[in-house]
Amino acid sequence: MKKVAFYTLGCKLNYSETSTIARQFEQRGFQKVEFQETPDIYIINTCSVTENADKKCRKLVKEAQRIAPNAYIAIVGCYAQLKPEAIANIEGVDAVLGAAEKFMLLDLIPTFEKQSTTQVFNQPIENSTTFHHSYSYGDRTRTFLKVQDGCNYNCAFCTIPLARGESRSDSIAHIIASAKEIAKQGDIKEIVLTGVNTGDFGIQQGRRKERFIDLIKALDEVEGIERFRISSIEPNLLSNEIIEFVAQSKKFVPHFHIPLQSGSNHILKLMNRRYERELYAERVQTIKKLMPQACIGVDVIVGFPAEGEHEFLETYEFLNQLDIAYLHVFTYSERPNTRALEIKPSVSPALRNERSSQLHILSDKKKRYFYEKNIGNTFHVLFENDIDEGNMHGFTENYIRVTAKYDPLAINDIRQVRITDINPKMLAEVEEIANNPIVHHA
Ligand code: SF4
Repeated sequence: MKKVAFYTLGCKLNYSETSTIARQFEQRGFQKVEFQETPDIYIINTCSVTENADKKCRKLVKEAQRIAPNAYIAIVGCYAQLKPEAIANIEGVDAVLGAAEKFMLLDLIPTFEKQSTTQVFNQPIENSTTFHHSYSYGDRTRTFLKVQDGCNYNCAFCTIPLARGESRSDSIAHIIASAKEIAKQGDIKEIVLTGVNTGDFGIQQGRRKERFIDLIKALDEVEGIERFRISSIEPNLLSNEIIEFVAQSKKFVPHFHIPLQSGSNHILKLMNRRYERELYAERVQTIKKLMPQACIGVDVIVGFPAEGEHEFLETYEFLNQLDIAYLHVFTYSERPNTRALEIKPSVSPALRNERSSQLHILSDKKKRYFYEKNIGNTFHVLFENDIDEGNMHGFTENYIRVTAKYDPLAINDIRQVRITDINPKMLAEVEEIANNPIVHHA
């Protein structure tokens, strides 16, 4: 029985796909082992959103070679789709598989015998029109369920459409079947819906056949799963109908991660985003009106070309006045074949870093304000198998990170708690409300 180890870079979608590919290997009799356990085969699932993603891939290949010099190394995923030759030239790489080929790994490489040359299986992304079902299982407390892939948008800084192809989705019927299959396992309490442009759900064979609102309404009826979380959704696709449904739904949690990218309408236009900041602010207001305790997370890019001091201040002040809980701050990095490369003037790396740290400080301020505003409120926490210094951790419905003294019975269980304090590590301390109290205060 050959031993295989997996490593995933990037997003929840990548994790759901690696986990599905790993199950394919186990069904074929391979033994799944950890990266450091000297496997016979390494599968590295890559990302290519930022320059760092490329560097990380090269570092992983080196580490794999150090641990198991004779292992067969296959690189798959977004970076492999975009730069197959560059990867094939990395010493030690045996195979490179693109977006569509990664799901055919076991058929394309039946023996995993090292060859004299690197095998490259990569077709033009236009041909990648099949939707491959995926969900993560067994390696985390929450399951990432892939409902959509690819993107038809054309944001000026983004390579994802080049790496993953056109927008396409699973059918509602098949997603419900997958959710029931996951529920039958009996140990998954929360499913996170994931995709590239999740809100654009519903396109099959190039035609829109279903809607995201109908998907979440159908999932809300699935027995055996206690809560669903939407991983991310574009502001222009987050309709009032979706917000109103989540506000009254049984299982969809009040947590919205909504990419903004810039708070300057001039920069949003240059980015080719499909909304202006006023729409974004209106979405935030609608959410907070219907769900005052809702958590809103924001993606924002700093240092995009033409972002002058004025545009950056517009972004800073816009974010500062919004009732949001945290920021994911991305520093703009030039990506090949993107239209942003033609936009001038570019922002110096030093200024990009300066702006990035300013927004990280703002994010910490927003998060602490959001957490402290919820002291005294009661929530349900899904405790994870994440033990640190005798304490366990988990997230509330509205994505507040909670800490409590380790209790083996609470792992992977949902417990009702009241937030009593926010500790210096920005973790919420709680007291349990239900009948079998856990020890208070971490
Ligand atoms: S919506 Fe824009 S940023 Fe998001 S994946 Fe599509 S092109 Fe990229």
